[in-house]
Amino acid sequence: MIELKGKPVADFIYQQITSELQSWKSSGWSLPHLAVILVGADPASQVYVQHKQKACEKLGFKSSLVQLAENITEKDLTEKIKQLNSDSSIDGILMQLPLPTHLDAKKFSDLIAKEKDADALTSSSLGLLVTGQQIIASCTPFGIIEMLDFYKLNVAKKNVLVIGRSLIVGLPLFHLLTQKNATVTLAHSQTVDLKSRLKEFDFVFVAIGKPEYFKPTDFKKDAVVIDVGIHRLENGLVGDVSSAGAAEHLSAFTPVPGGVGPTTIALLMRNTFKLAEKNRKFAT
Ligand code: NAD
Repeated sequence: MIELKGKPVADFIYQQITSELQSWKSSGWSLPHLAVILVGADPASQVYVQHKQKACEKLGFKSSLVQLAENITEKDLTEKIKQLNSDSSIDGILMQLPLPTHLDAKKFSDLIAKEKDADALTSSSLGLLVTGQQIIASCTPFGIIEMLDFYKLNVAKKNVLVIGRSLIVGLPLFHLLTQKNATVTLAHSQTVDLKSRLKEFDFVFVAIGKPEYFKPTDFKKDAVVIDVGIHRLENGLVGDVSSAGAAEHLSAFTPVPGGVGPTTIALLMRNTFKLAEKNRKFAT
């Protein structure tokens, strides 16, 4: 079985960005600048934000953390996003999700200017993805596509299943895999009798947010299973699929942690780089 580690994929993407940044110096362009909005003090979100800031540091990007109170009003959050949209020194904006329950994530994501939408979550970015015109795409699904390419796993003409239809993972992944010529089925919480159908698929992408809900033998022998889920339990981090028996049953599997996670951050960096490149070209 191939263990699909995310770090080599991420390192490859960081190398590409670093080499492309070389020519920026001779053009006199300022390095990319990412602003991360963090509302409240959710411990997992704080860790994710730190990882994103470290990745910026590693590449020499500028990063700004916009830390806002848990009980911020809709009006104040709207104002803050508008301010960041109009700040010409900022190339990319990422709002760390989830937001506190009184704030509608879709509504506030949509306030981010489309030219600065580093996680490609606005309706405008999602529309470009559906029509195949995207320059960037949502970081987690885009990272998964990079992982498939890196490990030379070809989904074209394959029967592929995506489980989960969130705007951040499942739905964009459905479109990206379709663009790779896979025949894609999208399942979700209302899908009837899903477990009895799992063995039909050569590739399965799981993003349901339920710890160890599936086991490797639920899937076809020698299937490729990409586990997006991540859960902090008492005994450590686990995915949506338990890892016990994966080596014997599957042909490729993502470890949790260390699988999809590192590629997500690398794609955030590449998205920010791409947005900054577009801004610099527009300004010259
Ligand atoms: P979500 O809760 O927004 O969506 C879950 C989706 O799964 C929904 O579409 C729902 O219909 C579906 N679902 C729920 N139970 C199901 C079931 N029993 N059978 C079939 N479908 C079911 O979650 P999300 O934001 O898409 O995240 C999913 C998981 O991925 C979470 O564990 C999250 O922490 C993780 N995640 C990881 C990364 C990363 O970088 N590694 C990034 C984003 C999300």
